[in-house]
Amino acid sequence: MKQRAEYGTAFITGGGSGIGRASALLLSQRGARVAISDLNLDAAKEVAHEITAMGGEAVAVALNVTHVDALPDAVSWAEARLGPTDILVNSAGVILVEPLLEFSPETFNTVMEVNVTGTFRVSQHFARGMSDRGYGRIINIASVSGMRAGIGRAAYGTSKAAILGLTRQFALELAGRGITTNAVAPGVIETPMTTACYTEETWSRVLAMVPTRRRGTPEDIAEAVAYLASPSASYVNGEVLTVDGGYMAAGMTQTGTLQI
Ligand code: NAD
Repeated sequence: MKQRAEYGTAFITGGGSGIGRASALLLSQRGARVAISDLNLDAAKEVAHEITAMGGEAVAVALNVTHVDALPDAVSWAEARLGPTDILVNSAGVILVEPLLEFSPETFNTVMEVNVTGTFRVSQHFARGMSDRGYGRIINIASVSGMRAGIGRAAYGTSKAAILGLTRQFALELAGRGITTNAVAPGVIETPMTTACYTEETWSRVLAMVPTRRRGTPEDIAEAVAYLASPSASYVNGEVLTVDGGYMAAGMTQTGTLQI
């Protein structure tokens, strides 16, 4: 496996908001050139602006991860400006919640298409170029929901468990080509995804299950992404780095409070 002294070029899906945005900013601070892709081009442009204003190198590119036909052009456009991609961060994702017995096939398919098929097709596309060049880092944003069931999360939890499966599969099949694939499994992180549906009351119920008793931040997750993307992580492959304030480690009572 080739060794590198620096980060190189990163491509981030869902980079216009939350965890993707924080990862883009931190990777740039660590010296990476960063392509910020998102369904929401304006949001991606804002992040690219933030980075260039701080002296970093970044471009914004429109990319819906479910539109795979648009992928080659979007990637070529970004790589023509920043160079070939060394690091892929799959952060684009959606959560749609419905009660299990009423869960609609349309909702289920939408979540699977963005979170699983999108991650798979985008990763597969980048892995071909990384494979030719003999170096690559793929980092998937999974979730503790892929390891523990949650009410209404038949699609989201299943999609995140599938991402852990994809992570292992890529790790096995691409390791010989100089590519490592790992996942970060965030706990509950304060981003537009959660603030859209969490009231103060929801937060206090959630924090009752988190030993560190504070809300996770996108920067907490970006630190894990940057580590897995770094030259120091060259022997870490197929791993899941859980960043959840101890949520998964703690024993829960039936009422969802901490068992201490
Ligand atoms: P967010 O909503 O702030 O950011 C998600 C971004 O993905 C948005 O900019 C959105 O435009 C983009 N996006 C959505 N669908 C897309 C598509 N089809 N193609 C391209 N871009 C698309 O949410 P976040 O909290 O930063 O979530 C990022 C990732 O982290 C997601 O995969 C999410 O499931 C995961 N995650 C979040 C939490 C949390 O508590 N916030 C916890 C665990 C895992």
